Amino acid sequence: MSVLDKIREVVGPKGFLDSPEAMEPHLVEWRGLFRGNAAAVVKPASTDEVAAVVRLCAEAKLPIVPQGGNTGLVGGGVPWEDGRSIVLSLARMDRIRAIDPLNHTITAEAGCILADLQKAAEENDRLFPLSLGAEGTCRIGGNLSTNAGGVGVLRYGNARDLTLGLEVVLPDGRVWDGLRGLRKDNTGYDLKQLFIGAEGTLGIITAATMKLFPRPRQVETAFLALRRVEDVMEVFARARAASSDLLTAFELIPRFGLEISIKHVPGVVDPLATAYPWYALLEVSSSQTETRLRDALEAFLGETIEAGLVADGVIAESGAQALDLWRIREAIVMAQAHEGGSIKHDVSVPVSRVADFITETSEAVAKRLPGIRPVAFGHVGDGNIHFNLSQPVGMEKEAFLALWEEMNRIVHDAVAARGGSISAEHGIGRLKRHELPRYKSALELELMARVKRALDPENLMNPGKILPE
Ligand code: FAD
Ligand code: ZN
Repeated sequence: MSVLDKIREVVGPKGFLDSPEAMEPHLVEWRGLFRGNAAAVVKPASTDEVAAVVRLCAEAKLPIVPQGGNTGLVGGGVPWEDGRSIVLSLARMDRIRAIDPLNHTITAEAGCILADLQKAAEENDRLFPLSLGAEGTCRIGGNLSTNAGGVGVLRYGNARDLTLGLEVVLPDGRVWDGLRGLRKDNTGYDLKQLFIGAEGTLGIITAATMKLFPRPRQVETAFLALRRVEDVMEVFARARAASSDLLTAFELIPRFGLEISIKHVPGVVDPLATAYPWYALLEVSSSQTETRLRDALEAFLGETIEAGLVADGVIAESGAQALDLWRIREAIVMAQAHEGGSIKHDVSVPVSRVADFITETSEAVAKRLPGIRPVAFGHVGDGNIHFNLSQPVGMEKEAFLALWEEMNRIVHDAVAARGGSISAEHGIGRLKRHELPRYKSALELELMARVKRALDPENLMNPGKILPE
């Protein structure tokens, strides 16, 4: 019996796909940047089935590509073109195993869709704060494996910060039960952190215990116009102080981002009468109802306008208006797709360097290619900028995309010069693997390679991702 037949026996016909049509959605990255092949797509229904499949793969030296919702942006969840590996999809493992409201924890299987997790928390009068554009499709195992960020990191931290325990199937098929719901556990190496952000290269996460928070009962949203990007981080610092540090989000939006959103995405409107070069979208929230956040926000707006830091601004009058303001932010990526080719960067710098990074790097790319249209937006409260470049009007898309590596070099060198990171939230995968040697020290790379060899000596877990050749 071949190894694939044995795997089919473990997972049953429902969990085994090998026709090209059925496998197709699992073989392509959603932007279409990467397309691969697989010997089969395997969908186990339990941790025991995952372990049995992995044991069979280990015996037969069959590589495994774990996959969640396949919304990753760096090609990590897509198999290589050679078709030698199997894709192991966690999609059928989507149960919430337990909620402990008093412990403020939730334990879910890796295939649980992020939005379902949020809903389960809400039904128990709690908040699960991880939130991102792909939340209706991405799965928690994928979120943890990419250490996902999103719009709530400022207040609640990223996937890494939210995780208390993991259950992992190791590359030899043994199951590590590390599902602890403890805030304090000081018993040596924090093993779970190895698997978070590992993009499936060290093992398969099958379940996780994560933190919950009190559910917000007041949420206020404001949209501020700025004359200069240099003022944005001072406005951020003042907003933190004025709100008793209750900021949950602080996002930067450039005028060009707003303009293309209005142009291409139905329902997006400019909330202000006059055009300004930069905007900040901020949200504050609190779980209590006595002190009104709105008063604090209004006072803050008045003071920052008086100080000349903010040119104009609106505070949402209703939940619907708040959604309208958020729609501007969320429309940018979609709108950019209508403006021809774009070369994207997901980077971070220290918060104090955000403005000079944006100004100087925008100049540097324009010097290389006059007419290039930078769209620098994102979670600047975390120092995270999505520094995306739209092609000049009228240029051939292919000719623009041919500059991908050159633009990467300009932007990533500017990041490195400021002590930043070339991947703030999307990971390394296949897309940025060749750049690691330039931006990580030889010692860091050596330690990463040693961890990989220690846990996966046969290199069967998502081979060729993250680590350079
Ligand atoms: P996949 O794409 O399936 O997998 C991602 C990686 O994890 C792959 O390397 C895969 O092999 C590995 N993996 C998946 N599941 C497991 C598992 N159980 N065990 C081990 N390895 C596994 N990211 C952000 O951080 N912030 C954002 O704001 C954000 N916004 C996005 C908006 C959109 C519209 C889209 C499409 C993506 C966005 N992303 C964002 C990218 C982000 O990485 C993913 O949305 C999400 O975290 C990946 O989850 P997934 O289940 O789709 O993982
Ligand atoms: Zn983001």
